[in-house]
Amino acid sequence: MPSASASPVRLKFWGTRGSIAVPGSATLRYGGNTSCMAVRADDELIVLDAGSGIRPLGIQLEEEFGTQPIKLSLLVTHAHWDHIQGLPFFKPAYDPKNQISIFGFDETGATFRQILAEPMKAPFFPIAMRELSGKIQIKKLSEMTFSVGKVQVCAAFVNHPGGCAGYRLNTSAGSIAFLPDHEPYEFFLHSARANHMSPEQAKTTAANERAELVQFLHGSDILILDAQYTDEEYERYIGWGHGSVSSAVSLALDAEVHRLLLFHHDPNHDDETVDKMVNDARSHVAKTGKSLEIDAAREGAEILLESKVLV
Ligand SMILES: [Zn+2]
Ligand SMILES: [Zn+2]
Repeated sequence: MPSASASPVRLKFWGTRGSIAVPGSATLRYGGNTSCMAVRADDELIVLDAGSGIRPLGIQLEEEFGTQPIKLSLLVTHAHWDHIQGLPFFKPAYDPKNQISIFGFDETGATFRQILAEPMKAPFFPIAMRELSGKIQIKKLSEMTFSVGKVQVCAAFVNHPGGCAGYRLNTSAGSIAFLPDHEPYEFFLHSARANHMSPEQAKTTAANERAELVQFLHGSDILILDAQYTDEEYERYIGWGHGSVSSAVSLALDAEVHRLLLFHHDPNHDDETVDKMVNDARSHVAKTGKSLEIDAAREGAEILLESKVLV
């Protein structure tokens, strides 16, 4: 029978905001820092995204590790500013005893290494990427399934301008899927790609791509998903690359995930608006009669997944 092991998988949000950091009294509860999450699983430290939230994570890690080396893997979903802007302020990257492996994908005309180095070039920043004294390995995402220690990492490209990799971590205590930026495939029907197809072909392609994503996410214990817009707002922002409350719920239900965390909060949304979006999401689920736990990701919140060991 399953029993809890001594070391649960721990997930902590360091940045939950999309687009731009918005500190202030209106965002105290859900947080103002941009995309960053840390997962501790099976003796590995895995960081997802390097938005402004990675700065306080770096400070906490330095305090925690002291004179011991920090070894971590950083999985970058894509190079939009809100997902990489904290990297130059990540203190562990400046210490030669630390080992940091950074994973991401090449984009049109530039390698992942060039993409990461670009925002640190003069005149944008005074310290170049190559001057970081930590042991930094930059790894192009060439395999869509690979391992970080005992954690299996699966990647899938999702629907976002310029591309975005979603990640699924399969750990000993369950699976965590992270899709910070994703627009429902239904948008495909209106997109430039669809202009080269008949409406029927576009519909079929969108349905196939969505089905692949449902399969990728299927049965996840936790899904952290882009739900930047209310349903009403989404009508005005079709094609901007982000999801809505009902599209997030519908994807999570179809993929039969256990817990959905709304993520990539809009910079214009205060805490009360996010509360309302959570309530709306729960109402959508209630109408279906299905079961799905829903919350919004909160900066500073930690989630534990208990290991299930057969004894
Ligand atoms: Zn973003
Ligand atoms: Zn983006």
